[in-house]
Amino acid sequence: MRLIVQKYGGTSVGTAERIRKVAERLLETQRDDCRVVAVISAMAGVTDNLLKLAREVAPRPDEREMDLLLATGEQGASALVAMAVNALGGRAISLDGAQAGILTDRVHTKAKIANISPKQIQELLSDDYIVVVAGFQGQTPEGETTTLGRGGSDLTAIALAGAIGADACQIYTDVDGVYSCDPRVVGEAMKMEEIAYDELLELAGSGAKVMQSRAVEFAKKFGVAFEVRSSFNRNRGTLAKEETTNMEDVVIRGVSIERHQAKVTLDDVPDRPGAASRIFSAISSANILVDVIVQSASDRNTTDISFTIHEADLARAEELLAAIVEEIGATRLISHGGVAKLSVVGIGMRSHSGVAARLFDCLGQGKINIELISTSEIKITVVIAEKDADRAAQLTHKAFGLESYPRAG
Ligand code: ADP
Ligand code: ASP
Ligand code: MG
Repeated sequence: MRLIVQKYGGTSVGTAERIRKVAERLLETQRDDCRVVAVISAMAGVTDNLLKLAREVAPRPDEREMDLLLATGEQGASALVAMAVNALGGRAISLDGAQAGILTDRVHTKAKIANISPKQIQELLSDDYIVVVAGFQGQTPEGETTTLGRGGSDLTAIALAGAIGADACQIYTDVDGVYSCDPRVVGEAMKMEEIAYDELLELAGSGAKVMQSRAVEFAKKFGVAFEVRSSFNRNRGTLAKEETTNMEDVVIRGVSIERHQAKVTLDDVPDRPGAASRIFSAISSANILVDVIVQSASDRNTTDISFTIHEADLARAEELLAAIVEEIGATRLISHGGVAKLSVVGIGMRSHSGVAARLFDCLGQGKINIELISTSEIKITVVIAEKDADRAAQLTHKAFGLESYPRAG
């Protein structure tokens, strides 16, 4: 008997009708001679609504309470799925993260999974239950509820698939798979048959929200292959797995955009050891995530240091940095929101030259100004005005001929 983990995202369980469809699919999979674990997200919009409510009652909600609140979204949806399966004559039981044996660290709202004890799940599976697990949550060693960061049900599914040694892990969502760009932004985006973990990791880490990047990181680390596919049809999806040699034939696999970014620059920072450390330790003390970091070449013993953060963190970062500009001897702090990051990703970049030139040329022709550039082995990121983001993604997609590239596999 095969053991399958199926994760259903918010839209896939967004209405009573859709929940019934999910229940039918779970039963169908079970009838196909499989043991089934379902991981369920909160119904579409529920997490956002809970967050909004929390901010209405408290300007800076307590993170412990936030986790208790947010975890209810997934718990409700998984109980509904289990009820729907049972109403169709099946045998299902729902478990919250703690009951499913998901142990995390103590970092509320973005906890990491430390360990999974799948004993209860395994017992229920051998009693022929469809086990429905509430995604996105776990508990600390002290029994406190934690959540795994936005999109965290993906992580629950991948981690559970790894822990119970599942034969397949399927991520059901509202698109047919992983596309060369968000199909809502680029209409002609191409669905991929397969993608290397590293590529999906870079895409997910730079704004392609089809998978939570921490989930992909986990999958790569523990070698959990998974398929992203639609819960609305039977089409084959995209298989995420270890890279194969033919994947290098494709120069660029995908384009992603990340909006709501802010750019911060410290001008004329004295070029001496410790300056960067002072800046970034101030920022990290407030748990602010920094992304693209660019330091200009030293000119008359000073450099300019720029970096990006999420726009929501800008006010706090400005406050922290204002206090140290003088101390480190910089001349001024310049910052603004309204920027976006555009990234092109592909392991083929390692063996093909001219990718950066082609990207800059296409943006230049589109009169899109580049504010910062950063590169990794398989990714080039540019920071641009947010208002240009969609157009830049469309132009880039076209410039790299993504629609017409041969599909891997
Ligand atoms: P779920 O609720 O199922 O977890 P998400 O909304 O988190 O679904 O992720 C699916 C969405 O990701 C799609 O509706 C799509 O708009 C968006 N998306 C962004 N980039 C991509 C991409 N490269 N390929 C596919 N979908 C993408
Ligand atoms: N409900 C959570 C979110 O909206 C987790 C998830 O859907 O994966 O982020
Ligand atoms: Mg998601």
